[in-house]
Amino acid sequence: MAGIDFSLSNGNWAPEIVLPDAAPDGSLITIGSSAVWGSSITNGAEAMPVGQGDLFAFVREEGGWTYITDPESLDCKGSECALPSNLRRIKFLLSNGNWAQDIVLPGAAAEGASITIQSSAGWSSTISNGASDVAISQGDTFQFVRSGAAWVSPVSKVEKTLLQFGCTDGSASCSLPTMSSPVTKVAVGNSNWSSTVRLPATARPGDVVVIRNDASNSVGVVAGDATLETLATGSVGRYFRDGDGGWTSAYPVKVLLVYSSQAADAAGGASEEELRLARLLDFTNTALENSAANFYLVAAETIQYDLAATTLAAAYEEGIGQLKNGASDLALYRATYQADMVVYEGALGTSDGCGRAFTSPAYASDYMYPEWIQDSKESMLAVISLHAWCDDFVMPHEVGHLAGLMHEGTANTYPARIYAKGASNVGDLMGKRGAGVEVIPYFSNPRLYTSTGLRMGEPGLVDSVRAMNENAPTISNFYP
Ligand SMILES: [Zn+2]
Repeated sequence: MAGIDFSLSNGNWAPEIVLPDAAPDGSLITIGSSAVWGSSITNGAEAMPVGQGDLFAFVREEGGWTYITDPESLDCKGSECALPSNLRRIKFLLSNGNWAQDIVLPGAAAEGASITIQSSAGWSSTISNGASDVAISQGDTFQFVRSGAAWVSPVSKVEKTLLQFGCTDGSASCSLPTMSSPVTKVAVGNSNWSSTVRLPATARPGDVVVIRNDASNSVGVVAGDATLETLATGSVGRYFRDGDGGWTSAYPVKVLLVYSSQAADAAGGASEEELRLARLLDFTNTALENSAANFYLVAAETIQYDLAATTLAAAYEEGIGQLKNGASDLALYRATYQADMVVYEGALGTSDGCGRAFTSPAYASDYMYPEWIQDSKESMLAVISLHAWCDDFVMPHEVGHLAGLMHEGTANTYPARIYAKGASNVGDLMGKRGAGVEVIPYFSNPRLYTSTGLRMGEPGLVDSVRAMNENAPTISNFYP
């Protein structure tokens, strides 16, 4: 089905039009009416009325029908335009001939409802989202998802420059605005620099700001009256909003990266393998930043060392045995470099999977009980296999286990930590797997939504980030 045009008229009328449950992405349905009697369009759980003169268009996008509309259809061309509140997925298009000055997001909406506003108009408009106003200009697309009583921008992998936050290059101080999303990523460069960056005065507990300084000069990061940190050239600052309304620097977790000589051969040499591990560590940090985690990984050291075992399961057992024996090579390296975690990469095939890590003093189960964290220091080993079938998601997944996470769908008999797992509706790092599931570099967090409006967790039930954030201070402090 590529496109359907459906017309209602007096001689050709139906009380209800039900949109199909399935259709290829990109399919378009338009429904117009010249009938004097009203009808209703049913789109999944929603119904919308159709009256005489109405014309509605729906496009199929990622498993649902999105209602496409514009100022003219909503009778608000040129003026203030209030978007309807009863729909889950709306796309609102602005163009030169069909433009509105002000766009007002509805004050109420279903949890997870999604509004996308796209502009090709030469004039900018203002979007009021309740908390703050946002300007939308030609070429911009903004998406808002309903979360609790607020509209939030969904997960963002996009860094914004200080100029995009309204600051002037070279200014003494740049104040970041109130956050509209749980994660704000800021890029500082030479044409986009302030000596001081002030963290938002208002934020919600668990919000995270990441600041990457690529400018030649350092940047002071200020919260309230206090300087939290001075970011040297090339460094990254990560800050989370604590429950007391203050900003705190994220916890560094020190990782000893170990590779076998076979892994070095498979990677094309020791320096290639070291670059590979550095890249995987960066990718893990990106996933932690995306997810609003309160910690990040730092390479304590990267060394070559061979375990004797040649399979993943055997290497894991051998490595854990060494960490529990303070006189062993691996335990001595770890103590020398004060590493909270150890990640070992070998060319270990895939007969036991691509990676292995458990957390518990006995490392006998996939469960993480909060009171075990302090006793889990000697279990902080992940073993991964360098193999063509093993992708970049293996390291962050295993680090998730070490930080206390279970797989999606794991029945946990320990109710206090039932939420320490992946989501069943999205392919997050500990989440659903299988045909047609795209793995995304996120840990579950019910404050986050995918770009199609799927919530990445459930409060109290599926919340990997909450569990990891509770464990991070202890893990980060194994070697104070
Ligand atoms: Zn796993």
